Amino acid sequence: MLEILRKIVQEVSAAPDLDSVLDLIVRRIQRAMRTQMCSVYLFNTKKQRYILMATQGLNKDAVGTVSLSASEGIVGLVGQRAEPINLEDAAKHPAFIYLPGTGEERFHSFLGVPIIHQRDVLGVLVVQQKERRRFDENEEAFLVTVSAQLAGVIAHAEATGSIQDVSGSRRGAVIESRFEGVSAAPGVAIGPAVVMAPPADLNAVPDKAATDIEAEIALFVRALESVRHDIRVVGRTLSKRLRTEEQALFDVYLRMLDDNALAGEVVEKIYLGNWAQGALREVIKAHIREFDAMEDPYLRERASDIRDLGRRVLAYMQEAAPKQIDYPDNTILVADELTPAMLGEVPTEKLAGLVSVHGSGNSHAAILARSLGIPTTMGVLDLPYTQIEARVLILDGYSGRVYVNPSDEILQVYRDIMREDCEVAAGLEQLRDKAAETSDGYNMPLWANTGLDIDVKRALERGAEGIGLYRTEIPFMIRDFFPSEQEQLQTYRSQLAAFAPRPVTMRTLDIGGDKALPYFPIKEENPFLGWRGIRVTLDHPEIFLVQVRAMLCANEGLGNLRIMLPMVTSVHEVDEANRMIDRAVSELREEGHITERPPVGVMVEVPAAVYQVRRFARRVDFISVGSNDLTQYLLAVDRNNPRVAGLYAPYHPSVLRALEYIADEAHKENVQVSICGEMASDPCGAILLMAMGYDVLSMNSTNIPRVKSAIRGITHVRACGLLSQVRGMDDAEEIHLLLRNTLQELGLGQLSRPTLPR
Ligand code: PEP
Ligand code: MG
Repeated sequence: MLEILRKIVQEVSAAPDLDSVLDLIVRRIQRAMRTQMCSVYLFNTKKQRYILMATQGLNKDAVGTVSLSASEGIVGLVGQRAEPINLEDAAKHPAFIYLPGTGEERFHSFLGVPIIHQRDVLGVLVVQQKERRRFDENEEAFLVTVSAQLAGVIAHAEATGSIQDVSGSRRGAVIESRFEGVSAAPGVAIGPAVVMAPPADLNAVPDKAATDIEAEIALFVRALESVRHDIRVVGRTLSKRLRTEEQALFDVYLRMLDDNALAGEVVEKIYLGNWAQGALREVIKAHIREFDAMEDPYLRERASDIRDLGRRVLAYMQEAAPKQIDYPDNTILVADELTPAMLGEVPTEKLAGLVSVHGSGNSHAAILARSLGIPTTMGVLDLPYTQIEARVLILDGYSGRVYVNPSDEILQVYRDIMREDCEVAAGLEQLRDKAAETSDGYNMPLWANTGLDIDVKRALERGAEGIGLYRTEIPFMIRDFFPSEQEQLQTYRSQLAAFAPRPVTMRTLDIGGDKALPYFPIKEENPFLGWRGIRVTLDHPEIFLVQVRAMLCANEGLGNLRIMLPMVTSVHEVDEANRMIDRAVSELREEGHITERPPVGVMVEVPAAVYQVRRFARRVDFISVGSNDLTQYLLAVDRNNPRVAGLYAPYHPSVLRALEYIADEAHKENVQVSICGEMASDPCGAILLMAMGYDVLSMNSTNIPRVKSAIRGITHVRACGLLSQVRGMDDAEEIHLLLRNTLQELGLGQLSRPTLPR
C-alpha cells in the first residue's frame, strides 16, 4: 500500500494544473481501491458550495455543474463533521439527497473522507460500490491517508491555478491572484518581480521570454559541450579503475545529452519562446518525474543522473550568462529561499520589496530586511515563483500577502496605504533628536542592531544611543572565505569609530542554525540544536582568537567596544571564552598594543541560560537577551518554519515570564540587562520590556522612531500597570491585543499596522 501511495502522491504532485490533479486523484484511487466510483468535491468559498470537480464512475457531464450547499447531503455532513462517513447504503441515511444527472442511483455503499489542509476543509473524497457493504477498516484508513497527503497538493494547485491562467497557458486572461505568507518587514511595495535563483538550482530557475532565440540556443550548446567534455575527462581518468560495465555508464550519460535526447528537447522549448535556463528546467524536470514514477528501483535511481546532468549544464549556462545589471525601478526581489547575500545584489535605490517562498519572519534574511526597512514577506509557500518574472506585484509586508497582477481597485487601496505610511514616517522623523522618555520622566535607552555597513549610517540617522548587537557573522557571510585579522579589524574599526564614544556591542561569530558560511558548511539533521554560536568558536579557537584580537585592536584609542557571546548554555563556556579573551589581551600587550579588556557579556537565548542568569552575571559585565532564539527554544517552534509561524508567539505567557525573571535575576547581581531580539522593536513589546526593568532596548534602526514615539506617549506608571494586567493573562493573542488596544487608546494606533483590505 505504501508503494501505491507513494506513486499516487508523486504523480499527482507533478500534474500541471488543478484539473489534472483532481482527474489523476480519482483515477488512481479508483484503481487502487478497486471501487466502481471515486469522485472529488471541492468547497468553493465564494459560492459556499461543494462542487463535483472530477469523477470516475459518475456521469462526466455532471462535473462542474452538480453542487451541494455546505449543509446538504452526506458530502456536506462529511465536511461539517470533518471526519469520514462509512455507510452500507447511502440512500438510507437521513442526510442523503439525490443528485439528478450523476447516475449515482446505481451505487449503495459510500465512504466519504474530508480533505483537510491546515485546519480548512477543502473538499470531500468519495468512493462508492454497487453492492451493499461497509468499506473495511483498511480501505477507510487508506482513503484517509491518501486524502491527508493530497490535501497539500490540492491546496497548492488551487492557489496556483489562477497564475497559470495569467501566464496564458490556459485561458489567457489576466487574473489577480493573492497568496498568503507571513509578515517579515512592515510596509507596502508595488513593482515588478525579479526572480533570483541560487546558482545551479534547477527548481528555482524562473520562466522568462527569450529575447534572442539564437543566442539562447548558442548559450545552451556551449554549456552542453562543456559538460560532455567534463564527462569524457572523468571517464578517461577513471577508466583504469572501473570495470567495463561501469565505464559504460559514462556513455549512457553522453547519450542522454545527445541531440536526439535531452538536448533536442531543450532546443525545441527554446524555439517555443522560453529562455535556455527555463527550457532546460522544463525538460529535466519532466524526465525526473518520469523516472521517479517508474516501478523498477534501478530505473528510478536514474532520476538522480538526469538531475545531476541538468545541474551541470545549468551551472555552465549561469557562469556564461551576464549577471542582471539593469534592475527595474521598484524591484520586488523574489526567491525560493532569500539569503542575506541576495539582499546585497540589488542596488538599494532600486529595491522596493522582498518575497521569499520559504523562511519566516524570524529568519535572518528577514531580520536584515527589517533593519534595512524593506517591506518583506516570507513563507509564501504556494507562490509559483518561477512563473512570475516581470509581473507586477503588490507586497503587503503588514499581513504577509502578495498579489500578482493586481486589479486597479486593489492597487489604489495600497497606494493610499503607502501614502499614509509616508505621512507617519515624516511625523516620526521629527523625533530624531528627542529623548526616549516617558511623559512621567522615565528614560529608556534605545540602541540599534547592526550587521551591514549601511546599518551604521541608518542607526546614527535615527538617533541610536549605542549598538546593542553587531552581528559580526554578516560581513563573514558575504565573502568567499574567512576574512583576515586585518580585514576584520578595519570593518570593526569603522563601526566603533562611527559610534564612539557610544558603546558598540560586538557579538562573536554566531554561525550554525540558519546562518551558513558558504565556505564553512555545517550539514546537520537538526541545526538549531546543533553546532552553533559559541559551540563552534570554542571548538575553533583560531577563529575565535583572530576575531577577538581584531576587535581589541580596532578598539585602540576608542574604548567603546563591548564583546558579547552568543548561544551560551553553560558557565564553563563563559569561563573558557573569558580565558581566551584574557589571552588575546595579554598577547596584544606583549606585541606592544595598548589594549584594555572590554566589558564582556553573555546572550541569554536558550532555556538553560535563563535559569543560570545570576551565575553568568557574576562572571560577566552585562546580560543581553536574544528573544528570537529564546522564543523558538521555549516554545519549541522553529523560527524559520512558516507552517508553525502562527505558533511563534513572543507574547506567550511563558516567554514573558522568562523575560521578567531574567531581568530580575541580573539586577540582583547589579548587572546591566538589555534585550536585542526583535521583540524590542515592536512598540508593544518595548513598553512591556521597559516595565520589566530592562536597562537597554536594542532594535533594528528602522523601528527606533516608532518605539521612541510609543515610549514618549505613555507613562512609566501606566506601562507597569499594563505589565501587572498581562501577568494575569493566559493567552498570547489576547495579550498582544490588549497592548495594541492600549496604543490605540493613547492615540498611538498608527504605530501598529494600518487597517488593511480583507
Ligand atoms: C536572538 O536570537 O534574539 C538574536 C538577537 O540573535 P539572532 O537573531 O542573530 O539569532
Ligand atoms: Mg540568536
